[in-house]
Amino acid sequence: MFSTLHTNNAPESIVRLLDMGMDPFNFADAILCILAQRLAHTFCKNCKQTYHPSKDHYHELVREYGPEDFSRHAKIPYTDELLLYRPIGCHLCQNSGYRGRMALHELLMGTEEIKRLIQNKAKVEAIRTQAIKDGMTTLKQDGIEKVLFGHLDLIQVRKVCIK
Ligand SMILES: [Zn+2]
Repeated sequence: MFSTLHTNNAPESIVRLLDMGMDPFNFADAILCILAQRLAHTFCKNCKQTYHPSKDHYHELVREYGPEDFSRHAKIPYTDELLLYRPIGCHLCQNSGYRGRMALHELLMGTEEIKRLIQNKAKVEAIRTQAIKDGMTTLKQDGIEKVLFGHLDLIQVRKVCIK
């Protein structure tokens, strides 16, 4: 079965389904994965401009990503050559600097540990911690990677990611 549910992130979807009365043992047996998706506004490609971010801004991105995960997954060091983009505004984007949207994703895999947490009706935080341990990149982490790739800025990531 493939189903769509409106929640803030993948771990919350599990807890929501359990709250809705789904049997935790059947659910744990059946789950393959949960993909969460949020749409974020991207820069207008016509007017976005590169700039060299300050060390403070770089560290803000690392902090929001989670420093440990950042050194494990993102691995983009701060150098003099590091460039990010910023919105400017032009006739194509009604001077907003943003045009179009892009999906941020997080994929939670139904590992043995996750199945056990579901059977025990664990809290969102416990499921989230385990999912990250199992290799999940969170919505916000995916967003920050897309900031580093020049698609959008942290402001837009924060707008759609609670955590
Ligand atoms: Zn523009």
